[in-house]
Amino acid sequence: MLSEDLRDGGCACGALRFRAQGEPIFVNNCHCRLCQRQTGGTSVVNAFYESDRVEVLQGELTEHVVKGGSGGDHTICRCSECGTAVFSYYPRVGRFGAGIRVGSFDDPTVFTPTAVVFAAYRMPWVTLPEGVPTFDEYYSPKALYSEEAFGRLMALVERKNRA
Ligand SMILES: [Zn+2]
Ligand SMILES: [Zn+2]
Repeated sequence: MLSEDLRDGGCACGALRFRAQGEPIFVNNCHCRLCQRQTGGTSVVNAFYESDRVEVLQGELTEHVVKGGSGGDHTICRCSECGTAVFSYYPRVGRFGAGIRVGSFDDPTVFTPTAVVFAAYRMPWVTLPEGVPTFDEYYSPKALYSEEAFGRLMALVERKNRA
């Protein structure tokens, strides 16, 4: 594997380090109220990977479960030492897929959002990026993703449904 295919990241204190392999399936910039409340920020940017492409290199995770927008469990994984949230498991594919907070990566500039979602809930002074598909709420992955990315997502949904 080429080393540039590996994206490393970690928490604020450095105890937790992780590595993601290759391109994410998609990257969402989400302005929903839950993301605002969970982060205290204007929005969150998540790079979504198959869990088997994400490796914890060092450190311990502490999990916190909150309700997602669908009412299902959203599990937030944080560094046990400093509490920085690094990634999440979402109800749709459970633990088969991980949404990594893009700001946790050592080089977050390599990620560009696939879409801006729940833009209707953005703070009124936030300017949305040009050239990124933007949705008041959510979108149809089949219509938006490449065939390859959509196939990767559906493979995860299938694994979740079979589990
Ligand atoms: Zn930490
Ligand atoms: Zn959100």
